[in-house]
Amino acid sequence: MIKTTKLIAAFLVACFTCGASAQELKSEVFSLLNLDYPGLEKVKELHTQGNDAAAAEALLDYYKNRKGVQTPDINLKDIKISKQEQKWADDAMEHTFFVHKGYQPSFNYGEDINWQYWPVQDNELRWQLHRHKWFTPMGKAYRVSGDEKYAKEWAHQYIDWIKKNPLTKMNKEEYELVSAGEVKGAAENVRFAWRPLEVSNRLQDQTSQFTLFLPSPSFTPEFLTEFLTNYHKHAVHILNNYSDQGNHLLFEAQRMIYAGAFFPEYKDAMNWRKSGIDILNREVGIQVYEDGGQFELDPHYHLAAINIFCKALRMADVNGFRNEFPQAYMDCIESMIMFYMNICFPDYTNPCFSDAKLGTTKEEQKHYRDWAKLFPKNKQIQYFATNGKKGQKPENLSKGFLKSGFFTFRNSWDKDGNVMVVKAGPKAFWHCQPDNGTFELWFNGKNLFPDSGAYVYAGNAEVMKLRNWFRQTAVHNTLTLDNKNLEVTESETKLWQPEGNVQILVTENPSYEGLKHRRSIFFVDNTYYVIVDEAVGDAKGKVGIHYQLCEGDVQLDPKNLTATTNFEGDSNVKLQCFAPKGTSMDEEEGWRSIAYRQREERTAFAFNVDKDNDDAVRYITVIYPTENSAKAPKFDAKFKNQKFNENGLEVEVKVGGKKKTLKYKL
Ligand code: MG
Repeated sequence: MIKTTKLIAAFLVACFTCGASAQELKSEVFSLLNLDYPGLEKVKELHTQGNDAAAAEALLDYYKNRKGVQTPDINLKDIKISKQEQKWADDAMEHTFFVHKGYQPSFNYGEDINWQYWPVQDNELRWQLHRHKWFTPMGKAYRVSGDEKYAKEWAHQYIDWIKKNPLTKMNKEEYELVSAGEVKGAAENVRFAWRPLEVSNRLQDQTSQFTLFLPSPSFTPEFLTEFLTNYHKHAVHILNNYSDQGNHLLFEAQRMIYAGAFFPEYKDAMNWRKSGIDILNREVGIQVYEDGGQFELDPHYHLAAINIFCKALRMADVNGFRNEFPQAYMDCIESMIMFYMNICFPDYTNPCFSDAKLGTTKEEQKHYRDWAKLFPKNKQIQYFATNGKKGQKPENLSKGFLKSGFFTFRNSWDKDGNVMVVKAGPKAFWHCQPDNGTFELWFNGKNLFPDSGAYVYAGNAEVMKLRNWFRQTAVHNTLTLDNKNLEVTESETKLWQPEGNVQILVTENPSYEGLKHRRSIFFVDNTYYVIVDEAVGDAKGKVGIHYQLCEGDVQLDPKNLTATTNFEGDSNVKLQCFAPKGTSMDEEEGWRSIAYRQREERTAFAFNVDKDNDDAVRYITVIYPTENSAKAPKFDAKFKNQKFNENGLEVEVKVGGKKKTLKYKL
């Protein structure tokens, strides 16, 4: 009796203090659980007797004492909270929610939380509100400080979210709509709050939140029934609305494994887990090419895919079902890591092709340390995990991934190396940009030709305008017709010769109706590059090759079609183009984005020529990385074959008076 009175009192207090977030005992939870699950005997008995309040209490007791189920994301014996997480937790107490790194400082969502508040019409800002990124930090803050206020506020926000974001039936496609559309209010909100990617994010993170807040007095039996009913709805929603393909599907599958493994008491838990495992096992064969590249052709999502696959493994490891992943799954992840290692620069950073962002050396090293635990026999992973102290440097230098269309010219794995990564692959997906033939070039500690990056994803017209600027073909180191975006992105590798004093890549993209682009790159004496661009076809218009340099002092010499850099330190470059008569060197708008909503101005230029007949437009560009561009040698270059030859090429270059013939036959 005392217990019941207490419960009623707690309920009244909850009603009084929390308003919209009052917790109710959800009796339906007992039909979602397998009450024959070991440990739930008492719950079953009380529920069968019709005493659901007591059954809910017994259920909470069960979870508080549950052993054997774990999440790899939280170690209760060693909870640490960073300064940033502490701030997110404290801000959240005032309903200032950390939603997106690109929108700082965070917005306030009102005393009576407005989950539909959308201060900037960028879809990510609206979607990611529903990832509740501040909840786990609140849980850590609760554990570290022992202050009940975090738990009380979390429970309040959790219930408030349920009440204000009901799930109504929508078409699957509607969740994926890129723009806001015409529908407003509740129906529109469902598309954001219940987009499967967001739902899966909550499924995953709520395993941590459940673990962190479970001992709190605010985690009442009623709250538990709300939580479990809501969580179940999430998993069922994903099961019926998995994304069709791509990284979203991988995230969703991995998180269903989390759901099934962490809450094995649900009747459907094994199905959830199995569906996740089946999808991941299937998708490694679909989304990962045989060369180890993820088919979105975006280094950042490639990395994300590796980490999704690894996360699923770690969940399996701590809960004892690793054997449900075959060796082929392990081999695939390992090949993806080797791919990534080979397309990265000596400071561990990745090229920012497509929608990729730039990681820091520290973050990237941590990935290798995580991977080394899963692949202890791989000496190369160990080498990068230990910053070269253990393991072995890869034996190869230059390396091509022909199916994915990533090619690395490399003379060393060390910081003073000379490394060019070229992207010229097949058609890919939403995150891939129309940039075939582009490259980044690292020399002696610096990325000299970094990609423009992505800046933002999608939203209203204003946001799309920003996105579309960064996606343009013309803001990449490649060739355009009339500065238009490529119409076809389907590069074909004609030749890849990764060894010797003259290493060669020949890649060809159909580009535009009536104009294909053949790019031949020669890496000469492990020192400099000669790029031959041939624009072939009957199309007319302005043909341009574009170059984007990193931020800093760049001198342009249009008369000599030359650019030289005067960057601080000893990583510089001299670039000179040998082009048809009438070619102009024109400075262009240049930006570089390394993170969402972050950009810096930089120098960009193009060599433009009017193509008014059917002859090919052909350029030779010498790119000479050097410590000091004032001391760079003089260049000269000319074509030996007077017209475009489908089956070969021969050019003569003079660098510092030394003549060199560069050629190939296909
Ligand atoms: Mg780009």
